[in-house]
Amino acid sequence: MQLYNTLSAKEREALIEEAGKERLTISFYKYAHIGNTKIFRNHLFLEWDALEVLGRIYIAHEGINAQLSVPAENFELFKAQLDSISFLKDVRLNIAIEQNNKSFLKLKVKVRKKIVADGLNDKTFDVTNKGIHVGAESFNELIEDPDTILVDMRNHYESEIGHFKNAITPDLDTFRDSLDVIEKELSEFKEDKKLLMYCTGGIRCEKASAYYKHKGFKKVYQLEGGIIEYARQVKSKGLENKFLGKNFVFDHRRGERITDDVIAQCHQCGEPCDTHVNCANEACHLLFIQCDACAEKMDQCCSDQCKEIHGLPEEDQKKLRKGKSDSNKIFKKGRSEVLTYKKTASR
Ligand SMILES: [Zn+2]
Ligand SMILES: [Zn+2]
Repeated sequence: MQLYNTLSAKEREALIEEAGKERLTISFYKYAHIGNTKIFRNHLFLEWDALEVLGRIYIAHEGINAQLSVPAENFELFKAQLDSISFLKDVRLNIAIEQNNKSFLKLKVKVRKKIVADGLNDKTFDVTNKGIHVGAESFNELIEDPDTILVDMRNHYESEIGHFKNAITPDLDTFRDSLDVIEKELSEFKEDKKLLMYCTGGIRCEKASAYYKHKGFKKVYQLEGGIIEYARQVKSKGLENKFLGKNFVFDHRRGERITDDVIAQCHQCGEPCDTHVNCANEACHLLFIQCDACAEKMDQCCSDQCKEIHGLPEEDQKKLRKGKSDSNKIFKKGRSEVLTYKKTASR
């Protein structure tokens, strides 16, 4: 039995190109009690590998969080397979608006402690006691209500390239930090204001809404299916689109354009730009916004120092990397002193 990915990203890319078949980028999540995560993980890997499904999937005792690329011709089989799992029957699938055959190049199914790193002690509150789910239409109405406070539950580098008009966008690095800061800032509104929240695909709001109800907020609402599903509904129902810019996504596309507005700037020259890249210096890998002109000038690096290292022979680069952890990958998304034009709000 082959339980792990064996092809490299390059090999997979070639295969996808050769096949020339359409792929769908899909995401879904479900909070459910999963007893034996290892067995469930292996089961999914075998089933999905056979259907040529690629993607990144997290499985924990609390549920499943999946971002996938599925061959369009296998979609019905894939759906039938999901429906055969009791807690995934009729699970809402978020289907990306902008399709890209190379959104994922590997199938990685990982067993984790949590399906979203939330830093919360679950025993302190009931995660199933969540907020009221609203679709795009009610969401648009709620936004116009003067009693509504609209909060973006994503991190700073996500809301930087796109968010809803008039939303509070916390300038924070982690979900856990955002939860606390928002609670403090909005504590006087617990009784009477409507707390309306949204995130990429809805999963973070499942936790956040339950958390705020637990903390005493009386009227808590969340955007069903997040920005991905909102964009789909706006399109199919011909509703007014109140989002601005791009929706940051966690695959090779990095962002899905929702409207033509470019609300961010290149972190190096300040020109309007909303394209995220990772610094080409492997030891840095900083996620930041870079325009085409700067990418060319800087060899896709974040700084002169990285450009210099990136220009060295691979062997020398390896020597320099030895013993150093790639801290930028985790902690420094879009945050670095070298990024002159990164806007940071005071906090
Ligand atoms: Zn630039
Ligand atoms: Zn760098």
